[in-house]
Formats: sequence, C-alpha cells, structure tokens
Amino acid sequence: MIRLIPLGGLGEIGMNAFAIEYQDDVIVIDCGIYFTGLDHLGVNFAAPNLHALRDKRIVAFIMTHGHEDHIGAIPFVIKGGYKAPVYASPFTSALLAAKALDQGCEIDLRTFEVGATLDLHPFTIETISVNHSIIDAVALVITTPRGVIIHTGDFRIDEKPFYGQQMTLKSFQKEKNVLALLSDSTNAEKTCANHSESSLIPTFEELIQSAPQLTIVSLFASNIGRLGQLFAVAKKLEKRIFLLGRSMQQNVELAAEKGYIDMSILTQDIGAHPRKKILVLATGSQGEVRSGLSRIASNQHPLLKLEPQDRVILSSKSIPGNERAINTMVNQLFMQQADVFYDGAHHTHVSGHASRPELEALMCAVRPQTLIPIHGEMRHLIQHADLATKNNIPHLIMQSGDIWEYGTSWTKVSSTRDTRVHLSESIAIMEGLIRERRHLAQKGAIFVAAYQDDDSGKILDWSLESIGISVNIRAVADEALHLYAKKGLFGKDLAEKVRLELRRHMQRITGEKPITVVQVMG
Ligand SMILES: [Zn+2]
Repeated sequence: MIRLIPLGGLGEIGMNAFAIEYQDDVIVIDCGIYFTGLDHLGVNFAAPNLHALRDKRIVAFIMTHGHEDHIGAIPFVIKGGYKAPVYASPFTSALLAAKALDQGCEIDLRTFEVGATLDLHPFTIETISVNHSIIDAVALVITTPRGVIIHTGDFRIDEKPFYGQQMTLKSFQKEKNVLALLSDSTNAEKTCANHSESSLIPTFEELIQSAPQLTIVSLFASNIGRLGQLFAVAKKLEKRIFLLGRSMQQNVELAAEKGYIDMSILTQDIGAHPRKKILVLATGSQGEVRSGLSRIASNQHPLLKLEPQDRVILSSKSIPGNERAINTMVNQLFMQQADVFYDGAHHTHVSGHASRPELEALMCAVRPQTLIPIHGEMRHLIQHADLATKNNIPHLIMQSGDIWEYGTSWTKVSSTRDTRVHLSESIAIMEGLIRERRHLAQKGAIFVAAYQDDDSGKILDWSLESIGISVNIRAVADEALHLYAKKGLFGKDLAEKVRLELRRHMQRITGEKPITVVQVMG
C-alpha cells in the first residue's frame, strides 16, 4: 500500500513538506517554514505538523533545494523528536550545516552530488538537476515497489542560467508509466514564457553604470546565480561591493568557498571609497522589519544613510502576504529622494518557477497516470490541474493535511486542517494559545483581586484593572463580590461566581465576553 501525505505547501505558499509512505516506511520530501507576517500576534513562522507520521519509520528527509520554505523547519522537527538522516545536495547541505550551528541542533546530514541515486530501501531515488533561483536544486524520481512517483521540487526551464546548464526533459522521459507527477504550481497562472536569468545582466549593467551616486541592490541572499551576475557586473564597472545583512554575508562566503564567487572586490568600509564606486548588496527585499534595507529606508541604519540620487534596485518579487510591508518600504525610499527601481516597472527580476508553457512541456514529456499539483495556493493548484485536463492527463487536487492511499486508484482516507505548529523565535506555540491572543486583542481583559476575611467571609478590600474595556464595570464587580460573599461563598467558588457575572454583564452590554480573571485571597 502506498500513501501520499501532503504535510504542507498545498493550498498555501510556504511550509513545503510531502511524505510518501510504503507500508509504514516513510520519506519526507522537504520540510520548510511558513512566514506568518508582521501582524500575527507575536508568531514569526510556522512549521509543518508531522503528527500523521508519529507511528511510522521515517527513512529519510530529502531536500530538493535550500530555500527556507523547503529546509527551514528541519531543526524544529528534529528537536520535536522526528529523527532521521537528512539528504541534501552540496549547497543545500552547506546551508543546513550553518542552520544546525545557529540553532544548536544536531542534524545527521548526508550530502549527495546532483545526479546521484540514493538507495533508501524500500525507495530508490534518482536526483535530477533543475533550474531554480538557487544552485544545486533537484527534482526526485522515486521508485517504490508500487510504481514511480516524480517530485519536481521548485523548478523552471532556463535556457541560459548564470551557473550550470539548462534543465533537460530527457531524464524525465526515461520513466514509463509514472504513477504520479507532483509538480510545482507557483506560476501556473502565468501564460507568458519566462525570461532567462542571464537576461538581467544588461539591466543591472545599465542601471549600475548610470547611477550618479551609490547603488543598493536588494535580493534574496540565497540566489547565488543573481549574486554571481552582480559580482561580474561590479567587477566590469570597477565597483566595490559592500554586503549588508548577516544572511547575505553567510551566503556569499558559502558561494565563495564553493568557487562561485570571487570575494576580492568586497570592501568592509563604505567610507574608504567614493560613493559612486560602491555597490551595496542587501537583504530585506520583502520589507522585513529588522532587515538592512528596511532600516536604511526608515533612516535608522547605523552604517548607511541614503543621500539624494542614491539608487535602490529591488531584484525580487513580493511573496504573498508581504505586499504591505514592501509598499511601506518603497514609499519610505522615495521619500528619501532615492531613485527606486523595482519589478513591474523595470526588468529587475525573473522568476525561478516554471510558467504554463514549461509546466505543459514537463507534463507532456512524463505523461503520468495522474498529475498532482503541489507548491501553491488553491487557485494555482486548480489552474495547474486545468492545464493537465487540456492535455488529456488525469489530475488529483490534494490539500495539506490530507492522506491519500493507492490501491487500484487514489482514495482520500483522512484529512485534518490542523497542519501547523506556530513558532516564535524557537518556542513552539500551539493553536490554542494563538486563539487566546486573538481573543485578548479583540475583546480585552478584566482582572479583579479581592481579600476576604477567612472567618466572617466579609470582603475586606478589592481592586479592578482592565485592558481594552470601554465600559465601567466597577459597580457590577462591587455588587457581585459583596452579594455572593454574603451568601456564604468563599475563595475559588466566590471568584468563579463573580467572573461569570462580569462576563454575562459584558455580553449584555457589548455583545463580547472579555478574558476575565478573578482572584479571591484569604
Ligand atoms: Zn524555491
């Protein structure tokens, strides 16, 4: 019996994790985090809930590439007791090793070369090089005793990547009778062909050369192909590069160690060179509050203040949910009289995900028994499925939290929507706590403390504090305390009566029941 268990990333952007089970042996493909955004009640991100695998033998975690939404949850699930070796390509493995060090977590890392075959009984897994916005990305051809399943990871077909070769469909065509093709749906809405990564070079060259003053380019630190282009352009234009942001420094060092980037044009001191000679590479293209670029935009960066005519190039797309933060940051940059260039208005970014023509090319090369769209919100999954129908390929829409079984056809055996473990820095916060915080934010809180005479039961003294409460409830609390004390209630019993009375009163007046805490001490 084979089972497919999408743990995250289907019906949402982020937190990608997909389990394949054969008779209680499981492999988990990717295990990423979900960024919850700024307004999420102190919760920074979420990791997939692996509860469905608690009684299984996890043979391995296999990473398709090193993006946070694919590898970011590994330390948390390992700390949570789901222990198994983690297989990753060289660059992905280097990122995971750095993460393990950062988070004080031991990861049993097994590095494979791109193109290698992994023998993980009862699964045999061939790794195939794909193009994406990070190096060393792979698709997986997974042979199980019941058939072959292909997982594309995140991919696109790039005629001219900056590093490596164009991904070929030949390796996918070898497999006949593929049981299921799990394919990246991020750009399933995009009908036009993708530009090649290398098509950005002329834009960068022109924008950086014509800049009258300092230039800042903001991009994802893990996009080594894009960093490579910017280093090449800077070298040609005789600029010095200054790196802003810890992850930018970490990724450039890793890329230099692996021979992708020559660090000789780096400078540690902006002031030592004419402003026009400086190219700053910064993280923070998503408007993250503590990032270098956000602090520059709000004029709070200790090392770098913008001056009129400085140029800022955002070389990225906004991840859904981040639009408001990015918009605020771009407005702040304009207010500081910077020249701002961003995707949409200028050709400063290309996507790392396949658009419809590439998705179609892959599904037609494989001709699977079933196409299963992965990695996307529902609209992406459904539009990807429609594309399969147009090509006479059967499809199946799955959602995070489902469990599907294959006997002679696919059947859904169970489903849960409780798919996330919320995380604040390194502390796991369960759903109940989030509900409590939301309740507190929306309805406010009342705190009552009273002292009661142990013998007579008389209320000796009492006080009331409230947060976010617009109604005066002192008289109600006073009356309830004295009334129920007179009726002979003591301590906890009295507290509970008063608590219920206050909540009933609040609901009558405002329609809401605030969090109410009453303590009666003897
Ligand atoms: Zn990715």
